[in-house]
Amino acid sequence: MKKNEQIIKVKVNQAELLITEIFKKKSCHTNEAETISKRLCLSNLKGHDSHGIVRVPRYCEWIDEKRVYPNKDHKIILDSGPLAIIDANQGFGQVMGEKSVVEGVKRAKKHGISLIGLKNSGHLGRIGDWSELAADKGMVSLHFVNVRGSLLVAPFGGSDRRGSTSPLSIGVPVKGEKHIILDMATSTVAEGKALVAQKGGKKLPIGALVDQFGNLTNDTEALYGKIGPDDVPNPDKGSGAITAFGMHKGSGINFMMEILGGALTSNDVCGVNHSEIRPFANGMLSIFIDVEKFVDIEYFAEEVKSYSNFVRSSPPAKGVDNVLIPGDNEQIIFEDRSKNGIPIAREAWDLIKNTAKKINVSEINRFEEAIIN
Ligand code: NAD
Repeated sequence: MKKNEQIIKVKVNQAELLITEIFKKKSCHTNEAETISKRLCLSNLKGHDSHGIVRVPRYCEWIDEKRVYPNKDHKIILDSGPLAIIDANQGFGQVMGEKSVVEGVKRAKKHGISLIGLKNSGHLGRIGDWSELAADKGMVSLHFVNVRGSLLVAPFGGSDRRGSTSPLSIGVPVKGEKHIILDMATSTVAEGKALVAQKGGKKLPIGALVDQFGNLTNDTEALYGKIGPDDVPNPDKGSGAITAFGMHKGSGINFMMEILGGALTSNDVCGVNHSEIRPFANGMLSIFIDVEKFVDIEYFAEEVKSYSNFVRSSPPAKGVDNVLIPGDNEQIIFEDRSKNGIPIAREAWDLIKNTAKKINVSEINRFEEAIIN
């Protein structure tokens, strides 16, 4: 096996320490560095590696390029009862996402419901994080997100990039049970999955991409252009696109993410045409509903539980082990990885360590102890 194909397992507490040190060196206050690190590691623990620690080198570059700023304060630019808009001022999404949920929960506790717009946020990572935080406080929540400055997705029937991978998350607290969390990009695949396929990993399904001539394909050249074995794939180089999920209906949902997460929050939509590159930022429109102010909490929990079990008990189709509901897969992976560590490509781990070395994180070699095998 070539070195760059080697998968290692890393102890999550060690990874968290290393990544905290990296962001402290990049001048984040300790609390901020710990929050970024914790949330990236949690993404790996939940199985969303594309939004986990692999992002560390890119986040550090973004600080250098002034695309995201450490220690930024947010500003509430609309403050009206259950409604608020928060300007994140290009601060870290991991911190701003938390602030947004705190604001939404506070207002929903008072009014039963709240609507929070978050604009100019650094990368918000795994959007399911925000549904989970809200569910911890007894809130059903819905999050509509756009990715300004990240044109990657073709609309149904189109052949070039007009949208972003715009994620959607809906979280439901269930008294006495794990929360139910739907968390999904509204593109057929996340860009991270195309990257894995380009590197010889799991192939994309045909139709995940579309080339510039409108042919549905799984050939990653459509996204990255022609690249040599040592080139780093760059989605700006391709002339095709990722497709929106779910045919015309999914494409409509992808479209609405841009309107809700981009226009209604005043974050701006992701791009008007290829000549206008807007700086990267997530926008997020969130609705928080205080369940117990709306419906009997015991009744709600019983209905959710019985429906969940009804769906899970569908006889599995050929080749399927178990029928799952939203969030089950993440929970299964979480239980395994919490015990056994998080898998990561050796190359990606070395890149994180090299990032640390370059900025003189001390005793870097002690983090080799993080490797389980
Ligand atoms: P995915 O396809 O792995 O999962 C999507 C949903 O399907 C989840 O709710 C999951 O619980 C459910 N699911 C998975 N397997 C299932 C099964 N067998 N049966 C039933 N349900 C199942 O997720 P994705 O679309 O690749 O998104 C990956 C992550 O990327 C998400 O955390 C998302 O928030 C994040 N993301 C973030 C941004 C950003 O700009 N911040 C942009 C795009 C995506």
